[in-house]
Amino acid sequence: MISIKNKIQHHLLDYKKVMASFSWENTAKELSGLAEGKGLNIAHEAIDRHANGHLKDTVALRFIRKDSSFEDFTYAEMQKQTSKFANVLQNLGIQKGERVFSLARRIPELYITALGTLKYTAVFCPLFSVFGPEPVFQRLSRGDASVLITTSALYEKTVKQLVERLPSLRYIILTDVSEPVSEKILSFSKLMEEAKDNFIIAETHPEDAALLHFTSGTTGMPKGVLHVHQAALTHYITGKYVLDFHERDIYWCTADPGWVTGTSYGIIAPLINGVTCIVDEAEFDASRWYSLLETHKINIWYTAPTAIRRLMRMDIKPKNTYNLENLRLILSVGEPLHAEAVIWGQENFGIPILDNWWQTETGGIMIANYPSMVVKPGSMGKPLPGVEIAIAAINDDQLTLITQPEIQGHLVLKKGFPSLFREYIHEEERYKKCFIGDWYLSGDLAKIDADGYFWFIGRADDIIKTSGHMVGPFEVESTLMRHPAVAEAAVIGKPEPTIGEMVKAFVVLKTGKEANEDTKMAIMGFARKEMGPAVAPKEIEFVESIPKTRSGKILRRLLKARELGLPEGDLSTLEQN
Ligand code: ATP
Ligand code: MG
Repeated sequence: MISIKNKIQHHLLDYKKVMASFSWENTAKELSGLAEGKGLNIAHEAIDRHANGHLKDTVALRFIRKDSSFEDFTYAEMQKQTSKFANVLQNLGIQKGERVFSLARRIPELYITALGTLKYTAVFCPLFSVFGPEPVFQRLSRGDASVLITTSALYEKTVKQLVERLPSLRYIILTDVSEPVSEKILSFSKLMEEAKDNFIIAETHPEDAALLHFTSGTTGMPKGVLHVHQAALTHYITGKYVLDFHERDIYWCTADPGWVTGTSYGIIAPLINGVTCIVDEAEFDASRWYSLLETHKINIWYTAPTAIRRLMRMDIKPKNTYNLENLRLILSVGEPLHAEAVIWGQENFGIPILDNWWQTETGGIMIANYPSMVVKPGSMGKPLPGVEIAIAAINDDQLTLITQPEIQGHLVLKKGFPSLFREYIHEEERYKKCFIGDWYLSGDLAKIDADGYFWFIGRADDIIKTSGHMVGPFEVESTLMRHPAVAEAAVIGKPEPTIGEMVKAFVVLKTGKEANEDTKMAIMGFARKEMGPAVAPKEIEFVESIPKTRSGKILRRLLKARELGLPEGDLSTLEQN
């Protein structure tokens, strides 16, 4: 195992010391809260606190349009805009706790309505703008949407045909019309024009609902996950310890708010920590991305393994081509980050890529490679201060903690940290099933090494049982990716009478490599040598691409369903190539 000594030493100088003295109560004291014990409101902490202080003229959000021109909003300007939108909701007679949805690209209106809704203590739910009508309908109806903010084009293409089926959707607000279309279909600019630009945030209880997020749908039907205002504490400390935010840092999170990363770390955590947040409207493009890092002098960059793998496949050597001297931290989440990617970061940017683990349900980062720590490539890192995380064996609904190192088990988190979800909406049974006593079951398998680092094994649903071995697809995929011909790999278990399940790999070859028997045999031979014949894939199929969710996760369940000729299940989050 290679370890990388990290040179960056900022907030978390001594992990053990911070762990020992940490408390959520003291963390709460570092934020201002609403006046006179009226609670912690996410929008207050993210915007008003700074707008009323020394950061008022600092850029909170910079929106980069597709043509690379950009528009800045200072904290003071965001305070006005979000107050206006809170007043819009009030003027429309929306009640606290009602659900406000967005369906839009990464445009300023999306961020203004998100924070304005939180200010008003209604619940915000962002959807991916690329969803088709049915996924949008499913989420609006399951999520009991009262208001939807969208653009005229998306209204025409996606929403219009659904309106009759959504009787409780009271208003649709279009971002780009100057006058209301009807009593129900209103103009954002007109409403904002008529609204006052100051708003006094009402008392916000720690348990008041704040955000609704649908999961990525990697393992099945997406779940509607509800979070509360108190989650701001997790956003604040993860911003500080994991992302190493310092006031006025320039930070870019590549995720869309339709995926929880794009909200927790594309809006809330950075703004609570007073940084300048870059928002790029365009989709992935390697040279555009590198240019953005250079032009906007980005210090901290949060992205996902799927994007990193795409960058790794290109010939561009960023260090030689771009001036990236301002970049001091790169982080990744969403899927396991292969050790090769961490090392590629070290070689190409001079800094390792820091992996961290969390889920829609945990609302914020839970396990991380902290900037001040020695990084073990391939490991997810260590738990967040204030959150107890363990490995457990689960048998017949009984949970036993595993204390010895290197033993695989279920990754479980002790209830009681602020950003743990409070509900799967309309699915109480499913919610209850996630808990045994005080422990939340993440659905992932992992192990802890002797130094306390966590290592991801796989999703419990994806684990392959072959000839008496339990094989995590990630382990096999990581090995396959070390073969020089392999660009990407996805591994499933295929039922086979004698050995239980057979390991089958779907492989995307690097450009220029030939998809023939020789290549197949070479990869298989390599895998056998590296992993042993029991674990190495028995079958390899070359494919053009691997199906993924919009948040970039490999849809192994879809590969498996197709392989076995079974129904494909919910494909609402499938990325269309
Ligand atoms: P669904 O719950 O609908 O099946 P999902 O679990 O992919 O979808 P998310 O909440 O977006 O929805 O993703 C969280 C999951 O992503 C984690 O449970 C884990 O399986 C995976 N994941 C996230 N970060 C990492 C990481 N750093 N290493 C390994 N796996 C990760
Ligand atoms: Mg999940």
